[in-house]
Amino acid sequence: MIIDKEKIQTLLLNAESSSGADVSSILKKALDLKGLSLEDVAVLLNIGAYRHTPLQNKILETAGQVKEEVFGKRIVLFAPLYLSNECVNNCLYCGFRVENKKAVRKTLTVENVVTEAKALEAKGYKRLLLVAAENPARSNVDYILDAINAIYKETGIRILHLNAAPMPVKDLRRLKDAGIGVFQVFQETYHPGTYEKMHPSGNKRDYEHRLSVMDSAIEAGFDDLGIGALLGLYDWRFDVLATISHAHYLKDRYGIWPHTISVPRLRPASGSQLTETPYPVPDEEFKLIVAIYRLAVPTAGVVVSTRESAELRRDVLATGASQISAGSKTEPGGYKENEEHYEAAQFGIDDHRSLDEVIEDVARLGYMPSLCTSCYRVGRTGKNFHEMAFSGDLKDYCSANAVLTLKEYILDSANGSKYTCEEAIKKELGGMRDENLRYGVEERLIRIEAGERDIFY
Ligand code: SAM
Ligand code: SF4
Repeated sequence: MIIDKEKIQTLLLNAESSSGADVSSILKKALDLKGLSLEDVAVLLNIGAYRHTPLQNKILETAGQVKEEVFGKRIVLFAPLYLSNECVNNCLYCGFRVENKKAVRKTLTVENVVTEAKALEAKGYKRLLLVAAENPARSNVDYILDAINAIYKETGIRILHLNAAPMPVKDLRRLKDAGIGVFQVFQETYHPGTYEKMHPSGNKRDYEHRLSVMDSAIEAGFDDLGIGALLGLYDWRFDVLATISHAHYLKDRYGIWPHTISVPRLRPASGSQLTETPYPVPDEEFKLIVAIYRLAVPTAGVVVSTRESAELRRDVLATGASQISAGSKTEPGGYKENEEHYEAAQFGIDDHRSLDEVIEDVARLGYMPSLCTSCYRVGRTGKNFHEMAFSGDLKDYCSANAVLTLKEYILDSANGSKYTCEEAIKKELGGMRDENLRYGVEERLIRIEAGERDIFY
């Protein structure tokens, strides 16, 4: 069984008698970077035991520490590229749902996909997340493959990830072979009753089918998988514990932790059937959720999108987030047209800053903006990736590659952020523990200044 609802509920119930002392000992354990048991996570989710006490901050701080032990200061940046909003499903919360008759429907031609990818490349992005609504007649696997092949052939985009509907193993295999790095599907909610209510019709109605998509992806050869729950649909304590339980299932059964855990939170969407969020998640709790994912699965990329405000996104950089999108549009064709067309967008975003503004902000806050795509391209994926990350060795690669890609960004795409980025590079070089690595990076920086590109560790 992938998710045992009764077990999750029992764990949450048992943890209700936990104390602050239990939380403190779990935080000590988390610093070993081995992750946490589901029992431990349930204790951290019992926020009544520590809310508004110094322990709450201690959880956030410890998650920040764990993030730095694994990935250093680097924060990976990417953008979503929406291919299509023509959907056969009827997810009540989504602007793309089939029964939203007001939505302006679009599936980009492959030519338009390339135009979008080029527009993003010109802004400095190297990593894109392709996003597609589910529609066997429109955004089917052949179409997605054409889009992938055209982007790799005609642009300098270095890695594509994909967020799309579950597919048969044979289709997933083709996507893997075409060069998709991370295959990402959110379960939305792991609570079967709520899942059923939220997905009244369409292919997505089948909870078990969606839940088994990661197993199919592994069978198809993917070893970098992205999971997540859409916060706000059901009690977040249940959904967070279930997400982590899904991560444990993947680890126990296949030996790999998920590559990413996304933290999407429900946003207003034009045409959504939901007039209010069923289970609102306040910002304070959102920060704890990011921290708990980080502590529980230290080597996962914890991803926070532009669904969240600039202020909250700044805060979560200190509490365990390691990947953020920037400058996002959630409608097909949004980058070329360069303005939000709400009637075609999936949901409204809350952080409207450009990539350059986000990069400058991240650097100014003392983190290292990274446009690195190296691991996927040199085979540091799946087990390899997690073993390196658990050992603490990955962060040197992250640091070096962040410096090299930020230098490219300064030379090729930066606007107002140039000075702050140069300062961030100096600081990162100054902090490198290994002198040989620093010399190597300095030598590569000279080559990049001379015009070479795409040099990485
Ligand atoms: N159509 C595919 C699917 O549903 O899995 C993939 C793409 S869907 C566009 C990507 C994700 O957007 C969904 O999995 C869901 O979690 C999220 N989403 C949908 N409506 C949202 C909303 N109103 N606010 C925030 N996120 C939303
Ligand atoms: Fe379609 Fe995905 Fe939106 Fe559901 S969440 S309506 S499947 S695009």
